[in-house]
Amino acid sequence: VSDRPDASVLARRLERAAAATGEHALDGLLITPGPDLTYLTGYRALPLERLTCLVLRGNGEAVLVVPRLEAPAAEASAVGQLGIDVLAWDETESPFALVASLLPAAGTVGVDDAMAAAKVLRLREAMPKTRQSLASAVLRHLRMRKDHAEIESLRQAGAAIDRVHAGVGEWLRPGRTEAEVGRDIADAILAEGHERVDFVIVASGPNGASPHHELSERVIQPGDPVVVDIGGTMPSGYCSDSTRTYAVGEPPVHFTTSYAVLHEAQARAVGHVRPGVTAASVDTAARSVIAEAGYGDRFIHRTGHGIGLETHEEPYIVAGNDEPVDVGMAFSIEPGIYTPGQHGARIEDIVVVTEHGAQPLNLRPRELVIV
Ligand code: ZN
Ligand code: ZN
Ligand code: ZN
Repeated sequence: VSDRPDASVLARRLERAAAATGEHALDGLLITPGPDLTYLTGYRALPLERLTCLVLRGNGEAVLVVPRLEAPAAEASAVGQLGIDVLAWDETESPFALVASLLPAAGTVGVDDAMAAAKVLRLREAMPKTRQSLASAVLRHLRMRKDHAEIESLRQAGAAIDRVHAGVGEWLRPGRTEAEVGRDIADAILAEGHERVDFVIVASGPNGASPHHELSERVIQPGDPVVVDIGGTMPSGYCSDSTRTYAVGEPPVHFTTSYAVLHEAQARAVGHVRPGVTAASVDTAARSVIAEAGYGDRFIHRTGHGIGLETHEEPYIVAGNDEPVDVGMAFSIEPGIYTPGQHGARIEDIVVVTEHGAQPLNLRPRELVIV
C-alpha cells in the first residue's frame, strides 16, 4: 500500500529509536496509539480505553501488547512485517501487568507524550519502582528531521491544500456567510485528496483579528480582507496547513500598507532559514520587519510550528527556542498582523530545510489576492 512507508523505512526508525533509548539510559519506550506509534510501526490504531502499547527495549526488542480483538488489525498493519511480537491480552487479564512483565522491575521508561493519564497512572501502579519520563526526549530528535518518505508525503499534502486555495476565489463572494464559504472549502479539502478536514478558518473583516477564529454566520462585505487558514490529514497520515489572505474587492488603504509589511516579513523569515540558524532567529527575522514598521504589538503569536503526523509539533519557531534548524525539518512560517475591531492578515507556508535553505511546500501567490 503506497499510503504507508515500506517496512525497511519503519525498521530503520525502530532501530534508531531503540539505539536512542539506550543512549538516554532508558529501559524502554511505552508507546500507545497516536503519532509516535504510527511513526515507528505504521500502525494507525484507534486510541481506545483498552490498552494497546508498544514496548520498545533499548536492545531493539519490540513487543506490541494488544487487546485480543485488535490483534488481527495489528498483524495486518506493517507490525506483521517488522518482526514485532504481538502479545494479545484477554478481557480478564491486566494488560498493565503484562507490560510490566516485559521490563526490569526497577528503572526508567519513556511514555509517549499523548498517553492518556489513566494509562500513565495504571502503568505506574503496575511498575511502582519504575520512573516514568517523556518519550519525546528520545523521539523528538528523530521525528523533527523528516526522512525522504515523510518529505514526499508533506509535499503531496502541500500540493493538495494549494489546489484548495486555488478555488477560494470562486467561493469567496460578498453576500455569502463565512460558514457557507467554509463548507465549500471543506468539501474541496476532501475532494483534493485529504482523508480528513482538520480545520477551516474563514475570518472576514473584524473576525480576521482573531488568529484562531473559525467560521461564523457573518455575511462577507465588499472590501473585506479575509484570512483563510485551512488544513487536513492525507491518507499517509501527514498534514497540510496553509494560509492566504484575500480581499473581496478593494480593501482599505491602511490594510494594503500593512499587508505589504507582512509580505516582506514572511519572505525575510523564509530567506533567513538555513541549517544552523536557531528557531528563535527565524522568528526574529519576521518579527523585526513587522516591529520596525510599527506593528510589533499586532503580531501576537509565534512565527511557526513543526508539522508532520501532527499539525503542530516540534520544532516551534518562537523566541527563546535556541534549537538550531537542521536539514529535513519541516515547519510553518506564518507571521500575521491583527488589528482589533478592523481586520487581520496572515501568510503561511510550510517549508522544508535543505542544505541550501528553506524550500516552500506551498506555492500559491503570496501577494494579496483580490477576488
Ligand atoms: Zn494555529
Ligand atoms: Zn494554519
Ligand atoms: Zn500553522
